[in-house]
Amino acid sequence: MKHSHHYIYDSDKCEFVPITYPKHEEAVHTFSVWIISGVVFASLCIAILSHNFGSPAEIALKAENNRLIEHLESTRTVIQSLEQEVQSIANMDNEMYRSVLGMEVIAEDERVPGTGGADPYAEFDVYSQDASDILKWTASRLDNLERRVNVQKMSFKEIQSYYNENNERLRHLPAIRPLHGVLLSGFGMRIHPVFRYKRMHEGIDFRADIGTDIHATGDGVVEFAGRRGTYGNLLIIDHGFGYKTRYAHLSGFADGIRPGTRVERGELVGYTGNTGVTNGPHLHYEVRFNGQPVDPLNYLFADTTPEEYMMYQEVARNNPTSMD
Ligand SMILES: [Zn+2]
Repeated sequence: MKHSHHYIYDSDKCEFVPITYPKHEEAVHTFSVWIISGVVFASLCIAILSHNFGSPAEIALKAENNRLIEHLESTRTVIQSLEQEVQSIANMDNEMYRSVLGMEVIAEDERVPGTGGADPYAEFDVYSQDASDILKWTASRLDNLERRVNVQKMSFKEIQSYYNENNERLRHLPAIRPLHGVLLSGFGMRIHPVFRYKRMHEGIDFRADIGTDIHATGDGVVEFAGRRGTYGNLLIIDHGFGYKTRYAHLSGFADGIRPGTRVERGELVGYTGNTGVTNGPHLHYEVRFNGQPVDPLNYLFADTTPEEYMMYQEVARNNPTSMD
């Protein structure tokens, strides 16, 4: 770059003459101008950026904070699905195991941590509102889950020892699915598919091709095996301890099945069919306790997982029509 000239007045010549610098001084001058301009420009940039966005270190920290909050947000869904899982195990614990075994159910408030006293998560107040909210939410939900899982573990231990102590009685309890089949309809008020009016459906219906094996759901004695009105071919097993089960619309009975025959849980007792008044081949299955029909869904616990139990409940709730 051409160095611009500075002038000096030469009184001898009575005119302005350009000042000539030695070569190295000229270079130093040019260099200094560049350095100073650079420093001034950089300072300006930093000043503007800091004013608007924060220092580079602050920007990096903010980005990291946002990522951490996003990460915490995404754990919400995981925690919520775990909560659902634990809830379905708790439902099964109360509605199936404890109710059916005649044990006291565990009330909802015994399963969750007590509240009250000072805010146990006040330590998170030092963070920004967003961060503090999500941290408090996560911490309290995890504490809650931990407590529920511990209660559940104690409950299962208790059920196990109860089962061992009452082995004889429990072998007679209806406790398995009577066949491998899809649940079609639940217990309660349902529309009859043939008579077309609402009436009490005293059992549950499983879809099954004609001739599917039916198993005794608990140890007992055959009370009835024959034709009975709209039930078609009906099998009644008396399990003792107040329990009886009914298997209806059968196409036939297994060899040796007649009143007085002793059967064990899981033993083949008959075959599904389409006899009596029905809307197609299926098994109608009833559980009666002291003469009263009860919901057989709660008596499938020996071979039903919590997920299957929830699914059965869903199906039973949503289908307004029964098969018979
Ligand atoms: Zn039915």
